Amino acid sequence: MKKVTDLQVKDAKVLVRVDFNVPLKDGVITDDNRMVAALPTINELLKKGAKVILLSHLGKIDFKKEPEDIAKAKKKANMEYLFPHLQELLPGVKVCFSPATRGEELKAAIEQLKSGEVLLIQNTRYEKGESKNAIDLAQEWASLVDAFVMDAFGSAHRAHASTYGVPEALKAAGKPVAIGFLVEKEVENLTRCVDVKDSDRPYVAILGGLKVSDKIKVIESLLQKCDKILIGGAMAFTFKKALGYEIGTSPVEEDRLEFAKRVYEEAAGKIVLPIDSVETDAFENYTIKRVVKDDITPGFEGMDIGPATAKLFTEQLAGAKMVFWNGPMGVFEQDAFALGTEAVCKAIAELPSCFSVIGGGDSASAAAKLGYKEKFAHVSTGGGASLEMIENDGHLPGIDIIRD
Ligand code: ADP
Ligand code: MG
Repeated sequence: MKKVTDLQVKDAKVLVRVDFNVPLKDGVITDDNRMVAALPTINELLKKGAKVILLSHLGKIDFKKEPEDIAKAKKKANMEYLFPHLQELLPGVKVCFSPATRGEELKAAIEQLKSGEVLLIQNTRYEKGESKNAIDLAQEWASLVDAFVMDAFGSAHRAHASTYGVPEALKAAGKPVAIGFLVEKEVENLTRCVDVKDSDRPYVAILGGLKVSDKIKVIESLLQKCDKILIGGAMAFTFKKALGYEIGTSPVEEDRLEFAKRVYEEAAGKIVLPIDSVETDAFENYTIKRVVKDDITPGFEGMDIGPATAKLFTEQLAGAKMVFWNGPMGVFEQDAFALGTEAVCKAIAELPSCFSVIGGGDSASAAAKLGYKEKFAHVSTGGGASLEMIENDGHLPGIDIIRD
């Protein structure tokens, strides 16, 4: 796989697929992390004297809706909101914006671009063909440039026109395609979690969060690779119920009970479940909050793993050389139920010489909120993409298409 550093692109038009899908509130960026994360690749290309053209999606546009709803969605997801901030992030660089996503206007904007300048294109999802990987759209975008760099890790699990069709068309035309710095780092670290070296064992996975159904493939994949899987969060209750425990009104997926039972049995001791929980009489505005062993009281809800489980998980983590963590251990958004997640963060942070990885949006927020983000060797920027990377043994369409 070619890297951005391998490209010779002086005076060349380089299309960079970035992930500028930042959260916006009334047109104001509330977190610019994703834009900042793309800067090393953009700056490298500028240093090489390229003309840098940035392409990204932003938000969602449902083309099945009524025209006025589509217009509203487009207004909300206008890439132009990001333009002033991009200028700030690239001081001394001329940055332009193209409201056109295709046609003569876009072509002219690209032709006018000089070496060392940047052009930000309007939201890829303004085009109906983007999510469908429409061949005419991909070929048009590809025809406008000399090279392509994939740096949108958070979008690499989607085979869309901007993530798949464009590099496919450029490759067919014999033009160079490469990955950027952000994707390079993600691929390196997440591949290590699926291509497990002996020196990275014992390898422990910690899974939590809301739904078993979201993570069936991850569980199956990790069972093949890990030495131990610790399961907490709401997800644990589907397993506990499948094993015959009382779970009260805790979240459960009835249609996954059989899966949970089968996987638990097949894992033959590899899966470790909570031995106590923090239960409440209501999700919000509760009057009773207490720790219970094994079973939840009927009418009560499990909100977090209990202290005995936190201790058990800490013991299970001792000696681990590699840890992959996805999914909070409890409702960490409420401070009263963040202790289990914090205990797991602390246990991982204190492991000597352990390669620790977080994959998952809420888990990354939890680690940041609790002050442990810097303690991890790698915090993936792509929630869904990082999980799919684990599920698919290190493969994602938007990355595989870059490979030679
Ligand atoms: P990630 O984004 O890291 O993959 P998920 O999206 O699967 O994680 O799950 C995160 C959500 O799971 C959080 O909003 C958290 O409140 C919720 N959660 C964790 N434990 C429980 C629980 N016991 N009851 C209800 N919700 C829970
Ligand atoms: Mg989530």
